[in-house]
Amino acid sequence: MSQKDFQDHQIRDEIKISYKYTMGGQSKFFIDLMNEKKLQGTKCKKCGKIWMPPRINCSDCYENTDWIELPQSGTIRVSTIVWYTTSDFIQNVPYGVAFIQLDDADTALLQGIFSENLVPSKVKKGQRVRAVFKRKEDREGKMTDFFFVPEDEYESWIEKPEYEGGK
Ligand SMILES: [Zn+2]
Repeated sequence: MSQKDFQDHQIRDEIKISYKYTMGGQSKFFIDLMNEKKLQGTKCKKCGKIWMPPRINCSDCYENTDWIELPQSGTIRVSTIVWYTTSDFIQNVPYGVAFIQLDDADTALLQGIFSENLVPSKVKKGQRVRAVFKRKEDREGKMTDFFFVPEDEYESWIEKPEYEGGK
């Protein structure tokens, strides 16, 4: 049989996968985010470096860390505006994404930035931002439970029925 006589028979089927995964040593960050709207970082027992996102062991000196609650405001260190994304986030396009250094933290967290006036001047290095949370009944213990907004928009975001301010 030559190659051109070959007929490929295809059947459309579906695979459904149900699974769970663990956040391991970082679970406390997600549990306290979901239940208490806390942003928990970690502090190295030896060198004192404060990690956000939290690390269970310090990446600089390999010591254990302690949990430490961090302020919910910070500063954009690097940012961009997203126009192309996955299906989970397509309804939000365009939105900002930034590395945000929370006040007191030594490292920066990658998180979404929403703004009522999404222009590069609102999502740029040095911009002060504050965390806004989904309502308790909508929080799932995921990174999408919260996002950041420019500090001067905070009050108007937390007035929306689907969101809440932090502490
Ligand atoms: Zn350290």
